[in-house]
Amino acid sequence: MISAIVFFIAGFLLGHLMPRVPFMVLCRTSGFNKGFPPHPEPIPLTPRLTQRVLHMRWFHRLGTYTTVLPLLFGYLSILGGQSTFGYGLFLAGGWTLLSRAQALLGGSPVACTLEMAQRLQLVMNIADSEDACCPHPQPQWWTETVRCESCSKKLENMLRPDLGRPRKDGFFRGWLRLWLSDGHPMVLPDDGKN
Ligand SMILES: [Zn+2]
Repeated sequence: MISAIVFFIAGFLLGHLMPRVPFMVLCRTSGFNKGFPPHPEPIPLTPRLTQRVLHMRWFHRLGTYTTVLPLLFGYLSILGGQSTFGYGLFLAGGWTLLSRAQALLGGSPVACTLEMAQRLQLVMNIADSEDACCPHPQPQWWTETVRCESCSKKLENMLRPDLGRPRKDGFFRGWLRLWLSDGHPMVLPDDGKN
């Protein structure tokens, strides 16, 4: 009985982690993060940052496709006799798939969106134009807003999601945080004051 529970939990954990590997592991390498300041420092707005937002969006998508793996392995395990392990895998994969599908139907959006990249681009365009906030605008993305480094003006109210940089809170705590948040920002949006 106990071994069945252990197998079920192991299957469930594995099935839950598999779709999250692309965005939790693949993008954390130092080579992929060259040119970005270390987490959690603000990131200057550059085409590279816009590209990163789009990359992260792609990693999340890839994760959704990867959900096929726990479903498939779960099914094979059930057929092959290791049914509790298989049920765990199957259940976790199905759960992930449903939560992602709900986002497509207008629920909570994925952490990095196309709209986010477009808004960053817009801020960069304004900084390059005559409407810039100051003579030497340096827009940077802080945890809660985009601000100009030179004049401190708030340029855009946008929470910064996880952008794939190695986290300062270490491997395990960082992992746990990412697992719980799915890359979404873990601060509450401010109410438009200041
Ligand atoms: Zn400025």
